[in-house]
Amino acid sequence: MSAEIIDGKKVAALMRDGVRSDVEQWVQKGNRAPFLQVILVGDDPASVVYTGTKTKACKDVGIETNTLVLQDTISARELKEVITGFNEDDSVDGILVQMPLPSHLSKYDVIESIDHRKDVDGFHPMNVGRLSVDQPCFRSCTPAGVMELFKHYSIPVKSKHAVVVGASNIVGSPMAVMLSRENASGKATTTICHKYTKDLTAHTINADILIVAAGQPHLIKPEMVKEGVVVIDVGINRVADEKSEKGYKLVGDVDFEAVRKKASWITPVPGGVGPMTVAMLMKNTLLAAKKSIYPSN
Ligand code: NDP
Repeated sequence: MSAEIIDGKKVAALMRDGVRSDVEQWVQKGNRAPFLQVILVGDDPASVVYTGTKTKACKDVGIETNTLVLQDTISARELKEVITGFNEDDSVDGILVQMPLPSHLSKYDVIESIDHRKDVDGFHPMNVGRLSVDQPCFRSCTPAGVMELFKHYSIPVKSKHAVVVGASNIVGSPMAVMLSRENASGKATTTICHKYTKDLTAHTINADILIVAAGQPHLIKPEMVKEGVVVIDVGINRVADEKSEKGYKLVGDVDFEAVRKKASWITPVPGGVGPMTVAMLMKNTLLAAKKSIYPSN
């Protein structure tokens, strides 16, 4: 067996086409274009690249955006004041604070200071809580993007055994919730694994659907999965590569070439889940502008 490739780049492009045409219609009806406010604290090179990718994608679909770059010495109180200003500004639909933050700032406090109705990343406890009780909310972009991939390829989730490796607040945990909840088109029986899971293979070997978001290059080997498994590799890891000009290459958390021989479907890295994350951010920003999730805003 050699798995079919789940082409996240292609599906994300289709999603972005859909958002672009919805934005056009929204503006043609006399509304202003959706607006995403990005906040970048400091000049971490990876964060600069990520915010650049997001703002480029915004422009591509007709969403207006601005990136406010703040000194990494900013105090918690000053940053909160900046966010409060955007919360109260009716011309701002979505607010995104790029993570990670400098160590003197609490990401929890910063996320909680964003108005949950503008939290297009889906990280605010109000959105996380509403997700867990299966109510409309902004859903964390990466796991929501994975659910879109299942939908696009008509990969059944209901009643399957889904195993999620990784339990972070932004990927693994909301992924497990979405897989198990009805409104997220889930209703899978879901297992979540983390560093303290005693025998990882004992769980992964039983997965019909295996989602890996551990940040550990090639953690998942072929002997850890069963024939026909659907594999979603969220991991993005830099590993040294002398052949590459940059001196490194990107690999996932799954030993792709070996595991694809046993899987029925598999995502590549890059070109799998990554582009879906950005496409979902575009979709969430449009939903925020339309006040589709929180109509009373
Ligand atoms: P975190 O480091 O926040 O979380 C990693 C999770 O994996 C933790 O729950 C950790 O367990 C668990 N874990 C680590 N090692 C193991 C192991 N050997 N066995 C089982 N569980 C393990 O990472 P993120 O969730 O933010 O990201 C995960 C990966 O996904 C990274 O490679 C990141 O770059 C990538 N990513 C990709 C995105 C995309 O768009 N494609 C978006 C976001 C992230 P514990 O809880 O016990 O610490």
